[in-house]
Amino acid sequence: MQLLEESKTQTVLVTGGGGYIGSHTVKALQAAGYEVVILDNLIYGHRDLVKNVLKTKLIEGDIGDRALLEQLFSTYSVAAVVHFAAYAYVGESATNPAKYYANNVCATLTLLEAMVEAGIDKLVFSSTCAIYGVPDTLPILETHDKRPVNPYGKTKLMVEQILDDFDRAYGLKSVCFRYFNAAGADPSGDLGEDHMPETHLIPLVLAAAQKRDSVSIFGKDYPTADGTCIRDYIHVSDLADAHVLGLDHLLQGNSSQKINLSNGSGFSVRQVIETAKAVTGRPIEVVEEARRPGDPPALVGNSDKAATLLGWQPRYPELVDIIDHAWQWHQKRHSSNHS
Ligand code: UDP
Repeated sequence: MQLLEESKTQTVLVTGGGGYIGSHTVKALQAAGYEVVILDNLIYGHRDLVKNVLKTKLIEGDIGDRALLEQLFSTYSVAAVVHFAAYAYVGESATNPAKYYANNVCATLTLLEAMVEAGIDKLVFSSTCAIYGVPDTLPILETHDKRPVNPYGKTKLMVEQILDDFDRAYGLKSVCFRYFNAAGADPSGDLGEDHMPETHLIPLVLAAAQKRDSVSIFGKDYPTADGTCIRDYIHVSDLADAHVLGLDHLLQGNSSQKINLSNGSGFSVRQVIETAKAVTGRPIEVVEEARRPGDPPALVGNSDKAATLLGWQPRYPELVDIIDHAWQWHQKRHSSNHS
């Protein structure tokens, strides 16, 4: 109990705290009693959300800026780092891999070196189910083969491997969370998904509902029940909760872990669109297009490890709630000006 009390007053550095999953995690960390300092270069992060919703210290800068990191770690007594800052467009990673290896791997290495130098030995890392590639069997367990099929997934797997070596060599403990499809929004409507450009299915479906426009279905000839791809959509607030539990796990002196975060059930692109029609009460026109290169037919994860090791359970497992929260946010965000 004493340990828990102490951990709740500690300062956590969140890189990429102005982004989608990062901002929800900052909110969850604050609710759990942690002090949060955000490091974000605001290329994709949102200043207005950090300033008006999270109301926490923002250091505008890059994770690859070693001098800035040294200054930051000497100014704040950082107990642990939660590391989101990364580029995350799968398609772009294939056309511009240099950008992804430089930021997601090299800049992360700079962050890790600065942590070791400052004596900070705990990290929660934002990994992805993209490290598994196209699985042989479903649902995917943490022990499945890692065969990423795009540079984005490769960068995340490389960092996981670097973290294994940093644990062995320097005692840096980490929890790597492998997310399936992050979706939804904070139920308050204050935080949500706002990518520019947007490539993800649910926000594009909701934008089509709002603008009375159409959405593309990429591929209708997959070996699935309705011919469209199946994904495991997990509520972003549930991901955020897991990060708090992962941090607690490390601060209590436990070992490094790799953990899936998923709902355990899959929905097809057509099922997502039908659910969005029901939630929004609007018609959504679809345009059937060719497959998007590199899309596996079905991805569904097994999250038993998160449940048994961390006591994590999704609070919002229903697709209808995930889409409803995303819709509340979408309407609010797109009826107001923001930066
Ligand atoms: N998708 C689609 N139309 C879109 C965007 C996505 O049909 O406009 C499909 C995509 O091919 C994939 C699923 O929706 O099968 C989820 O895609 P998303 O980009 O949201 O996540 P990913 O699984 O690629 O990480």
